[in-house]
Amino acid sequence: MKYSKLCEVYKKLSSTTKRLEKIEILCSFFNELEEKNIEIIYLLKGSFLPDYDQRDLGISEQILIKALSKAFSLEPQKIVKKFKEKGDLGDVGEYFIKEKKQNSLFSNDLTTEKIFENFKKMLSFEGKGSIDKKILSLSELLLLAKEEEIKYLIRTVLSNLRIGLSVQTILEAFSKYFFNGENKDLIEEKYNLSNDLAEIFLSSKKGIRELEKINIKPGIPINVMLAIKVSSIKEGFEYCGRPAAFEEKYDGFRMLINKKQNGEIFLFTRKLENVTNQFPDIVKVVKKNVKAESFILDSEVVGFDHKKQKYLPFEAISQRIKRKYEIKEMTEDLPVEINIFDCLYINGESLIKKSFVERRRVLEKIIKEEKNKIRLAIQIITEDEKEAEEFFKKSLEKGNEGVMIKNINVEYKQGRRVGYMCKFKSESNELDLVIVKAEYGEGKRSGFLTSFTLACRQDDEFLEVGKVSSGLKEKEEGLSYEKITDLLKPLIIKEKGKEVELKPRIVVSVSYQNIQESPSYSSGLALRFPRIISLRPDRSVYDIASLDDIKRELKLFKNK
Ligand code: AMP
Repeated sequence: MKYSKLCEVYKKLSSTTKRLEKIEILCSFFNELEEKNIEIIYLLKGSFLPDYDQRDLGISEQILIKALSKAFSLEPQKIVKKFKEKGDLGDVGEYFIKEKKQNSLFSNDLTTEKIFENFKKMLSFEGKGSIDKKILSLSELLLLAKEEEIKYLIRTVLSNLRIGLSVQTILEAFSKYFFNGENKDLIEEKYNLSNDLAEIFLSSKKGIRELEKINIKPGIPINVMLAIKVSSIKEGFEYCGRPAAFEEKYDGFRMLINKKQNGEIFLFTRKLENVTNQFPDIVKVVKKNVKAESFILDSEVVGFDHKKQKYLPFEAISQRIKRKYEIKEMTEDLPVEINIFDCLYINGESLIKKSFVERRRVLEKIIKEEKNKIRLAIQIITEDEKEAEEFFKKSLEKGNEGVMIKNINVEYKQGRRVGYMCKFKSESNELDLVIVKAEYGEGKRSGFLTSFTLACRQDDEFLEVGKVSSGLKEKEEGLSYEKITDLLKPLIIKEKGKEVELKPRIVVSVSYQNIQESPSYSSGLALRFPRIISLRPDRSVYDIASLDDIKRELKLFKNK
């Protein structure tokens, strides 16, 4: 397909904020999609792979500037200057194409096939010289692109398409296109299982029976069940019914442990990232202690210091998630314990629709516990508030964050906070938020980003809730200004004076003292005295607090 055709669709989609209009635009575009070009559907989301595949091209703004410079034989400084002026590299590309009009008149058309060909090549380049090869492949695409095409191409490469289109809207458009607006829930449920828009599209095209057949497969990451926060045990019972299961809430990170029929083990974070290579210790323990041919287990991985015989806070082990080298040393310095709390698939059979008690029974049969390496989450089932309260206190005494409260009679509901699972923590004011802006510091902090604007989520929008500069350290240890600056710099979209606007990617856990209404921020709310507690590389922007979550917190403060 000509890329220009897709760019027309991008343009139409960004020209309206109305969901129904977007759905109409998508439906007429779906006529163009066939099995052989179905990958194009990923481009709608500004990606080129299904969601379950979290690899990216590894192209930063800096590399893109080099590719632009190569394609248009321009001095990089000239491009940087325009970037500072326009604040968006997509617009910069468009500007230079207009300037060099005569070239593009004679070039071939850019096609989606060519884009996929080069993107896949770029993914395969590794090691020495890979950046140069990527620049070459990219500049080839840039040269083929015409005016508007280059803007969207650049934004896709930088994973920042910004056409105001969510997966939710695409799924709704499937429902309209294939089923006259019916089967929305089924489509969403199946999407949560497959994380692949192309698979959902093609199955829906064949009819509802094919769509119904989609199921979880070990080796492919799936969206996990999310918890609602409750402010009392009683409220937990209200959501989960009586009796309910109470489990210790461990302070680590979520991991889905998969074993395929052929014995291969895969480990995924809740962000769907494949972290198998980073945790060979977990692979080993799972191979030894989980007795089943194939499975998908849901678990919380916690740091455990064998020498001091104590659990480590999340910040300590979070560095293992992104670590690409010295893995062996890491496994020795920062060993982990796996706390398994659910089983979604066993020996070729999905357990998603089974009740929690049944799923737990399976776990009890297949896990051989080993001290401080692998165990089942500690659990009681009770209908008694006092007993639950006692369990909660004991859990805190052991250093856990609180308890999880679970409905024992229901299926595993993915991706949503439906109240089948609740979290009850000791009184802590903590939220996961995303950094959307930052400011450079002064004096000895100049060159570092030192103040950060935080945002919550409301549907597809990010709304600001405050600024934070404390919680970080000047030095190397902990989360330093240097480290966070390194993480944020490649995400800069716009620069103005000292302030930079960022792609919303970096999720942080933030503590605060209070919340108040405030006209200064786009959410209408402001956190008082926020502090960054830790980076959450295991969480995506879909996991952060929503505006409704924060409004609920505000209400709780007001009622105190
Ligand atoms: P929060 O991180 O505050 O949203 O709390 C929910 C998270 O607690 C889950 O996503 C898990 O990562 C974690 N967790 C810890 N222990 C458990 C448990 N026993 N059952 C379920 N989730 C748990």
